[in-house]
Amino acid sequence: MNTLTSKILDGVRSTLGQQKAALHEPTFEGNEWKYLKECLDSTYVSSVGKFVDQFETNLAEYTGAKYAISVVNGTAALHIALKLAGVSEGDEVLVPALTFVATANAVTYCNAVPHFVDSSEINLGMDAGKLRDYLKNSAQLINGKCVNSFTKRVISAMIPMHTFGHPADMENLLAISRDFNIALIEDAAESLGSYYFGKHTGTFGMFGIISFNGNKVITTGGGGAILTNDIVLAKRAKHITTTAKVPHRSEFIHDEVGYNYRMPNINAALGCAQLEDLQFKLRAKRRLFHLYKENLANISEIRIIEEPANCISNYWLQTIRINQENEFLREEVIETTNNEGYMTRPAWQLISSLKPYNNFPRMNLDTSESLVKGLINLPSGSGLISKIT
Ligand SMILES: *Cc1c(COP(=O)(O)O)cnc(C)c1O
Repeated sequence: MNTLTSKILDGVRSTLGQQKAALHEPTFEGNEWKYLKECLDSTYVSSVGKFVDQFETNLAEYTGAKYAISVVNGTAALHIALKLAGVSEGDEVLVPALTFVATANAVTYCNAVPHFVDSSEINLGMDAGKLRDYLKNSAQLINGKCVNSFTKRVISAMIPMHTFGHPADMENLLAISRDFNIALIEDAAESLGSYYFGKHTGTFGMFGIISFNGNKVITTGGGGAILTNDIVLAKRAKHITTTAKVPHRSEFIHDEVGYNYRMPNINAALGCAQLEDLQFKLRAKRRLFHLYKENLANISEIRIIEEPANCISNYWLQTIRINQENEFLREEVIETTNNEGYMTRPAWQLISSLKPYNNFPRMNLDTSESLVKGLINLPSGSGLISKIT
């Protein structure tokens, strides 16, 4: 084994001890059983019940968004946000190449075209400076619409993503959104509990979306939410995610093609309990970050990804980056740590390189390409901390 690999293994072992550690396991330490029992006892497990309203209210309150609409998963939330932002067939939508595949898939569901953007070394999110230069050279405003000069398609939206919980450069991305008239939707799937200059991620753009999948900071089993500050958009989102049914005492009246994307009451019950404990989970995750940082500090060939300046990260996934000279060791580090019971993972492959997307428009992606070669995610669940301390 290479000495760098064994130094990293030692650092991880000093942090986690002998426990087996998954990448991100959920923990259920609060009112989960109580609220789930309430659902079962009342028979309200499905599309009717009080927990959905309560979860939406609590989520809006926690994030500071005026409105939160809960849905079946984060991907569905993205789909609806794009649709309501006016993304239509044949449009282009700017997405980071370094993201989970759902960001691009939601664009495809709208029959639009993902257009891949490079990421910043610092926050791993869309590189605002590079994007602005790129748009200056390859797009123009025609009748108020941003048009790709090469493909002649309208660039109607952009979806910055807060990678592993670290806030993207929102100030400069919002300025691009204004200057080029491109709707901004935040993929805040990973960043519940993360703040940019004191404001919660997912509340900057026309919409933000959150995921409550089993591996996220809190979970509803499967689930997602749409955040917005606009009451008209909020009402539209609620309407079309609940089959576009017009309230009526008995008749089934649907006034447009809607979606069955509503979050069931039983999932929302889990969400209510999880949200109550979010502050404790966040504290544990921050503590875990500091332990990793301490134990990996003397390894000059790697750096641990930290929250950007003036931001608070939820530290969803703890991440190290191996420097370029040593990135050939990434496979060995991942294999060795996994063999020792510590589940580590490479970052995603760039979406722009996956089979369904390898022919789509993109800017130069040098930084993203270099990032993915060196990034490794470490075990990150908040439950790991209680077993350490
Ligand atoms: C998890 C995730 C999603 C989608 O979440 P699901 O709830 O699994 O559909 C979208 N984007 C990013 C970046 C994610 O990490």
